[in-house]
Amino acid sequence: MTPSADRLEIGEFEITRLLDGTFLVDGGAMFGVVPRTLWEKRAAPDRENRITLALNCYLIRGRGSTILVETGVGPDVDRRHIDFYAFRREPGLLAGLEDAGVRPDQVDVVVNSHLHFDHCGGNTIRAGEKEWRPAFPKAVYVVQRGEWEQAGNPVERDRPSYIPARLKALGPGAFLNLLDGETIIRDGVEAIPVPGHTAHHQGLKVTSRGRTFFYFGDAVPTSAHIDLPYITSYDLFPVETFNNKKKLYERAVAEDWVVGFSHDLRQAFGCIRKTGRRYEFVPRPQGPGAEKA
Ligand SMILES: [Zn+2]
Repeated sequence: MTPSADRLEIGEFEITRLLDGTFLVDGGAMFGVVPRTLWEKRAAPDRENRITLALNCYLIRGRGSTILVETGVGPDVDRRHIDFYAFRREPGLLAGLEDAGVRPDQVDVVVNSHLHFDHCGGNTIRAGEKEWRPAFPKAVYVVQRGEWEQAGNPVERDRPSYIPARLKALGPGAFLNLLDGETIIRDGVEAIPVPGHTAHHQGLKVTSRGRTFFYFGDAVPTSAHIDLPYITSYDLFPVETFNNKKKLYERAVAEDWVVGFSHDLRQAFGCIRKTGRRYEFVPRPQGPGAEKA
């Protein structure tokens, strides 16, 4: 059963956090220039200095659409990645979808913030020795055009983060919808470029009846990254991440957005408040009667 803390209503939309699994990453790499004495208060590292991250996917249902945001690392993680990141695929995206009552062929849209292997690994499934097919056969897959081009021909710096062979089955053809900037994907659901982690990374905004949910992707991977300088070392353009966080937070505070993160295990939803000059994460109220945002 999906825990109630992982479900939320935003006007006419129901949003569910689905967990593809967890993995371990060096805490220092996840917090960039921030010293361990500061970040360890928010994310306790293990003896090898690693912190646990979630592989979050968000299922968005409403106004006749079933939209899946991110597909995790997927079922075919290769040995080298399993050893290095200690991936555990529990419960797994497909099990989570089934639990939510959604079959793969009922997903209309798959949105990826970017195409690093821990975000789009479940976009395709193995169809043969070196062949893959779309895991959601009736879905249109949505990503920024620049990100798709980058995934097919990565720069040396972030080549290890892409697995182009597994994405080939999606395009060129009927499966792909490549976006050029801000785009309304469905009524009330909008892709918003948030460059920084990669040049064409995007977030997703869901708005209905005066309420907004915003998915940050890797711009803000966990609630421990709310502080503006808490930016991962993986970000190719950290100054852009910083500026984009600031710009989004101003609106998130003013309009009381509910926000979601790509890699937070404990906090599927929450809000951002400003105290003095600092931004803070406020967990979503828990318990009976707290179902609605
Ligand atoms: Zn990521």
